Amino acid sequence: MKTELKVVKFGGSSLADAEHFRRAAEIIRSDPARRYVVPSAPGKRSSGDEKVTDLLYACYDAASHGENINLRFEHIANRFRGIIEDLGLTISLEDDFETMRRAFMHKAGRDYAASRGEYLNGRIMSAYLGYDFIDAADVIFFKDDGTFDSERTNDVLGQKLKEHERAVIPGFYGSMPNDTLKTFSRGGSDITGSIVARACECDLYENWTDVSGFMMADPRIVKDPLPIDVVTYRELRELSYMGAGVLHEESIFPVRFAGIPINIKNTNDPSAKGTMILPEAPADRSVITGIAGKKGFSVITVDKDLMNTEVGFGRRMLSVLEREKINFEHLPSGIDTMSVIVATSVLEGRRERIMDEMCDLLNPDSIQIDDNMALIAVVGRGMKKAPGTAARVFKAVGSVGVNIRMIDQGSSELNIILGIEEKDFEKAMNAIYSEFVRDNSK
Ligand code: ASP
Repeated sequence: MKTELKVVKFGGSSLADAEHFRRAAEIIRSDPARRYVVPSAPGKRSSGDEKVTDLLYACYDAASHGENINLRFEHIANRFRGIIEDLGLTISLEDDFETMRRAFMHKAGRDYAASRGEYLNGRIMSAYLGYDFIDAADVIFFKDDGTFDSERTNDVLGQKLKEHERAVIPGFYGSMPNDTLKTFSRGGSDITGSIVARACECDLYENWTDVSGFMMADPRIVKDPLPIDVVTYRELRELSYMGAGVLHEESIFPVRFAGIPINIKNTNDPSAKGTMILPEAPADRSVITGIAGKKGFSVITVDKDLMNTEVGFGRRMLSVLEREKINFEHLPSGIDTMSVIVATSVLEGRRERIMDEMCDLLNPDSIQIDDNMALIAVVGRGMKKAPGTAARVFKAVGSVGVNIRMIDQGSSELNIILGIEEKDFEKAMNAIYSEFVRDNSK
């Protein structure tokens, strides 16, 4: 029988100090299948504290402005020295600190600076566990254009892991073809965990954090939402794109490719089952799996009589956004009207230009940009077989007096997206949640 293999990733809050390291190590040692460990940099120890990654960015920026960084640098080094000492380890990272300090002064790059949090934490974790250390710089690769080189990484990393029974691979960074270091976007250790999971073809990717998985709605908006037990990759894509945090949205891709499940687990409550993310799953007790949403969208609306007879109208409208390198979210349209929904932030400083270009290319009857739109995604694999789901969403929102500005449902029937006024966001989220979850449990 094949022995089970698990990749475990620990987030910064799970490795913020020696006490958390001990807890993480206990979790790792309690299951021999947990053979590959991906750590983040130390996170906040308390609410007023700072994440090491933020300190590294600030220190590097100070160095590049020619400031004296001694104090800042010592503050960072002391975080690691403190963990080493409290764990009773005999390793020393002083040589690494010296190399880093010099590299900061010589402008080795912001990504290099940020990556050192994971690197140093990885060194400590490997010493504490007695696992081998594999530097992510040697096994995770980016291409010249800065995108992740998945195939080269999978070959080299897969081969390397075969040579190490148990190893620690720091999260968040890899190397460019010219050997400089590059990081993923913030929270990117989740992606590294997923890449390692794919490369060793493990049975399960456990992502250990400080919450027991995903909730059906954002707890800052909906009081005490229920946890999500099971979610599919596709549902999670919809939910995390629309703001459900917990896991970096890009970390789904490598494991999805290999069909490996992800289990979100809580370091502070290891026995809680957390959220299981699976390639496919039967519909749950509830029609919807979760609700997520974001504020800060704008709608560009173009009206023109007989638009439907003009071949290429949509392409011309979108070509303006393409030239501006703006990606769009949704494209609701009517017979003589077409709207594009974009994040308001991307319009900054170029509204006039976009309007002018659209006027030139489209010769419309009217064109306008409306701001302050919020989008809500109601997501659930159970919708497919549940007639009346959309009606329930609209009824819930209508019953609290919220006007819907836009509706979009993908043909996969996995989600219903609503565009509403930002001021109605919280009210609408609560109304939808109550309709599907609270009232369901009565
Ligand atoms: N330490 C990095 C960050 O704070 C990456 C991570 O924790 O995943 O974004």
